[in-house]
Amino acid sequence: MTPDTDVVVIGGGQSGLAAGYHLRRLGVDFVILDAQPTPGGAWQHAWDSLHLFSPAAYSSLPGRLMPPQPGQTYPDAAHVVSYLTDYELRYELPIKRPVRVQGVHQHGQLLRVKTDAGTWHARAVISATGTWWRPFLPAVPGRDRFTGTQLHTADYRSPKNFAGQRVVVVGGGNSGAQIAADLAHDTELTWVTQREPRFLADDIDGRALFDAASARRRALDEGRADTGGVASLGDIVAVPPVRAARHAGHLKATPMFSRLTQAGVEWADGSRADVDAVIWCTGFRPALGHLSSLGLRGSRGHIPTTGTRVKADPRLHLLGYGDWTGPASATLIGVGRPAREAARDIAALLQRA
Ligand code: FAD
Repeated sequence: MTPDTDVVVIGGGQSGLAAGYHLRRLGVDFVILDAQPTPGGAWQHAWDSLHLFSPAAYSSLPGRLMPPQPGQTYPDAAHVVSYLTDYELRYELPIKRPVRVQGVHQHGQLLRVKTDAGTWHARAVISATGTWWRPFLPAVPGRDRFTGTQLHTADYRSPKNFAGQRVVVVGGGNSGAQIAADLAHDTELTWVTQREPRFLADDIDGRALFDAASARRRALDEGRADTGGVASLGDIVAVPPVRAARHAGHLKATPMFSRLTQAGVEWADGSRADVDAVIWCTGFRPALGHLSSLGLRGSRGHIPTTGTRVKADPRLHLLGYGDWTGPASATLIGVGRPAREAARDIAALLQRA
């Protein structure tokens, strides 16, 4: 059977665009299928006050520097959306929207990509669907009993929806700290974390995180001792609003509660707090449901890869999900290199075929 295209890229966020840039440079025929009706991937859904943790020039995809945002050292999410919109136009990337991939299946020498807008047959597939679409909620007892509002980072927009309310923010990572800082003035805030929050030094931003992730990968590749990577520096980048809230004394963390009650939360020692809302800033998981039909998950629920290439099927690459698919690959600046490696690997595979 003749394929419809050489490569289907699933997802048209930053990772899919970076893949498209390199596939185009290599002269590979491809299409990008994206479930969103408009460009920008997950950045379109970020909360109102979200700013990048790196300056514009350090948040760029291959080929084109992100222009600075006037008056902002750390651009906001709307600026990222404009940059990605401009990027896909500039490189004339062949993107179809909205097209949701429902499943990828074996089809002899080809892979069959089934979507809500038809079927594509391709020689290779790059999955670049991100994590935003699969929020993670921990199994805390009583979650179904609580009668107040519960939402995840992915659904949070602005403090004005919580003005005057008693709000618990759960999570000691960047999202938890930033959303707690966002809510500190307008709500009666309790910030709970599983361990004492680990703030990075005030002068460290995403640039240092990228360097740390790259240094770790180099050390591991060269058989040297694990440097600890990003985790060795801390968990929370002290972006200006977080720094300001911490200096004002608003970011004092309380240990994690043990369960939810009908009216609020309860700690292991029996103390309780009645609250109006719980915001779970407890992370995301890779959105890989469309690959389940291929039966690729390893023993720990992870799809084993070498770099971006799936070990069990070299026609399939996973791009942008985290350090396991390339150092800092789930960041704007970090996805360029694994995207280039994936595109080269696929071009070589196509040539051999
Ligand atoms: P996404 O942006 O999620 O794009 C994936 C695309 O695939 C989406 O358009 C989606 O609709 C589509 N899709 C999903 N499933 C399907 C399907 N089945 N079929 C078709 N299309 C599908 N990185 C930085 O570099 N700097 C930062 O400051 C920074 N801050 C962050 C703050 C937060 C709160 C979070 C969560 C992440 C942050 N990141 C940051 C990390 C990262 O840059 C973003 O998560 C980014 O959105 C990842 O891009 P992506 O293209 O991999 O995924």
